[in-house]
Amino acid sequence: MNIIEIIDKKRNKGILSNKEISFVVDSYVKEEIADYQMSALLMAICLNGMTEAETFALTEAMLNSGDKIDLSGVKGIFADKHSTGGIGDKTTLIVAPLVASTGVKVAKMSGRSLGYTGGTIDKLESIEGFKTNLKVDEFIKEINEIGLSITSQTGNLVPADKKIYALRDASGTVESIPLIASSIMSKKLASGANNIVLDVKFGSGALVKTENDAVKLADLMVKIGKNHKRKIMAIITNMNNPLGMAVGNSLEVREAIEVLKGIGPRDITELSLTLASYMVSMSKNISYEEARSQVVDCFKSGKAYEKFLEFVSYQGGNIDNIAISEKVYSIKSSKTGFVKGINAREIGEIVRKLGAGRFNKTDIIDHSVGVVLNKTVGDYVLKDEALFSIYFNKEDLRINDVLECFDIEESLGEMTPLIYKIIK
Ligand code: URA
Repeated sequence: MNIIEIIDKKRNKGILSNKEISFVVDSYVKEEIADYQMSALLMAICLNGMTEAETFALTEAMLNSGDKIDLSGVKGIFADKHSTGGIGDKTTLIVAPLVASTGVKVAKMSGRSLGYTGGTIDKLESIEGFKTNLKVDEFIKEINEIGLSITSQTGNLVPADKKIYALRDASGTVESIPLIASSIMSKKLASGANNIVLDVKFGSGALVKTENDAVKLADLMVKIGKNHKRKIMAIITNMNNPLGMAVGNSLEVREAIEVLKGIGPRDITELSLTLASYMVSMSKNISYEEARSQVVDCFKSGKAYEKFLEFVSYQGGNIDNIAISEKVYSIKSSKTGFVKGINAREIGEIVRKLGAGRFNKTDIIDHSVGVVLNKTVGDYVLKDEALFSIYFNKEDLRINDVLECFDIEESLGEMTPLIYKIIK
């Protein structure tokens, strides 16, 4: 087989065979295909797409490129969630203890991500002492003992994705539905996940921009999961505005704690309760309504918050010491009106420039910086009323940049929902 013929075939809108796809993945991992050839093929895939069968084959080849985690040592039912990523998305920190407090175990391997702010692992590392690099046996032991564990991906999990994702990031080929679906699902499958709820986001702060594309992506990932005999579903959610009020690693941990205490913002509280209820419903084989009532009971009684504290302490974290920036600057609104929109992507970009996210895989992030909104979409703000605060360490304030993210108008108009669709 020849890589140049395979690139030509995809460039001419041909359909690659399973053998061609596994040849490409295997040879690329073994460094028998050069980066420039692989990026040419990835660009051809971005432009001409892949059939479902090609995407299944790509997922399979990536899945088989490394270790697979065996979770058969976990006693009882366990569930997982995955978000395609968004600005201010700290739902894992809330959903995991919510679900665990209902008796469904949560086994979650998370990433650091190259996004605007860190991934779940980065957020957890803003808690002093929190250990995120558990070995598989430690991971399973914790799940069996307290019902919940979150760790970074251990072992040699999907090395093909590590290589291909880094190349996609550097070659403008991230935004392709088959490439995203196979990348996410190969990692979910390799980490042994089951009872998976996917939160597929669309909008300015998401990987896919339209509801239509989010539905296509969700559909494809659900099909891949089902082909591998996993229970899986997806919810389609809006990521045009930041989720919650806090964006930035430690600020998001603080907000997750507020949500678990019942005093957090409405949007992220509702999304977390919804995700947790679907995870419990699928895992226990009960109706959504029944699961929701169990989740809400654990939320209101404080059981979920206690589970969070137990989990942080088990993994060595000191909840009384969460990173905080040296300086905070509060910014007032320059006009009176309704907050009609807040540009999530721009807020994310500003927070990354403050130091909360990475531009390159090797960048060291500053856990303590970010933005906390005082007003969110739908709120009324008076001129000179506090609009947001910037938490920073470097003298690199971006006040005007953040102000420009707010669309403040005399009237509100129609509000868009947060949760759009359920895909089963
Ligand atoms: N996250 C992943 O893990 N892979 C992608 O392709 C996009 C987001």
